[in-house]
Amino acid sequence: MSPNTKQSEKKIKIITRYVSTVYGCNLQCYVDFSYLIVIIDLTKSISLVIIFSYLVLPVFGGVFMKICDKPQFVAETNRKMCDCPVFLRKRIAIFLLPVIVIVFASCEKSVSPLSGVSFSDSVKIREFPFKKISHKRPLIELTEQEKEFIWNFASLPTHHEELGLSYILHYLKVYAEKPEQYQKETEYLLSVIQKEDVGKNVLGTPVFFTSKFGISIVSGKTKRSQETHRDQGMAELGLLGIPSSFEVEISEKIYPLSDAIRECAANFYLEEKELAWSAIVLALYLPPIQEWTNRFGEKCSFDALAIELMKQRFEENSCAGAHLLESLTLIYEISLECPILSFEVQNQLKKYLHDILTTVIHEQNIAGYWELDWFVKIPDYGQPFQNPHVWTPSVDSESRLLATCHLVEWMLDLPEEFDVPNETLKKAGMWMLNHLKTKKYGENTPICPYAHVVRDLELLGM
Ligand SMILES: [Zn+2]
Ligand SMILES: [Zn+2]
Repeated sequence: MSPNTKQSEKKIKIITRYVSTVYGCNLQCYVDFSYLIVIIDLTKSISLVIIFSYLVLPVFGGVFMKICDKPQFVAETNRKMCDCPVFLRKRIAIFLLPVIVIVFASCEKSVSPLSGVSFSDSVKIREFPFKKISHKRPLIELTEQEKEFIWNFASLPTHHEELGLSYILHYLKVYAEKPEQYQKETEYLLSVIQKEDVGKNVLGTPVFFTSKFGISIVSGKTKRSQETHRDQGMAELGLLGIPSSFEVEISEKIYPLSDAIRECAANFYLEEKELAWSAIVLALYLPPIQEWTNRFGEKCSFDALAIELMKQRFEENSCAGAHLLESLTLIYEISLECPILSFEVQNQLKKYLHDILTTVIHEQNIAGYWELDWFVKIPDYGQPFQNPHVWTPSVDSESRLLATCHLVEWMLDLPEEFDVPNETLKKAGMWMLNHLKTKKYGENTPICPYAHVVRDLELLGM
């Protein structure tokens, strides 16, 4: 790799990081920042030419001609030199610049334009994702009436305008616990994701778009078809067990879901925001490979990913950090079946999950719930955000519900060797059930966290 390429890649990383931090979305799927670098470099060069032509040349030309004592020549040269920048501005900057950008934009898609490394060569995608197991722990006795009451909270809204991609993903996850009963609903919800016209009809815009390295879902909060967290859509589809050959329709063409997984692997980098969702997609679909190359020509590995996830702060991640735990547990579970981690990292991860579980068990309120800042008691955790605009843990019952249902979901995911106490789960389940009984479906019961509560109670119910 030449020093120039290295420097350009460094610039790309800085810009990518900036965009991710400011917009918190996967904009980099759509813009190849290397073109931006070209524009910046070109603008810089043009500015240099202009400065040189305007200032340096006339002065030097004038001085030179004065030495030769030819005043007419001096005037002529100055005029020509001053015309030159106008020509550059008008012709090169206006006409040539877009041409260069278009030429660069039509470069070979699957190869990093700067390093020339093809990431798709290193990324082999599984046909079926790893199967994530949530363990049923029948600890709470529920009457048929109570069961019916609980499942009411996962009813599809009658008006489509209330549906968003995040809703659809939550419904699909909870319906997966009763596949026969909710087969019709599941097929319908998947068709919204899969079929362009259904997606447009229900959500206003289709879910998938073609992007630089394949296909992608846009992250954001401005359209109902967008995912709330980067790679959340793909992660949830993977957790449902959707194969990579699943067909998605875009502009009357059919694309396999593997194109979206390839896009995720290409754009993945360790510093990205909300790493947990991308980690879930990669862990589900990439093994047995342990390493792959991203679009910047960087080598990525599950070892590095697990180490980075273990360093992340819970308050900087959604849902009280529960999805971080979810992704790490998934990586650990897969590593037991398939050697994607080195022995040392696997051991480190096992200890990490054990330590976190100890804190979680210890921090449960006597009533059964957890607060949003359950993690502050982890030994050596340090101070959470001091800026109240960035993060203030709320202490109302809805915030407790969000933390509790997510932590219970995580504990139900943990492999049996972790031995989650029945008492912890039962107390949490009873607290959630009693909270639900104070509510009526549809009256301020957002799908997140209520769909999680329904799922937890289904897994804990007898
Ligand atoms: Zn969540
Ligand atoms: Zn949720």
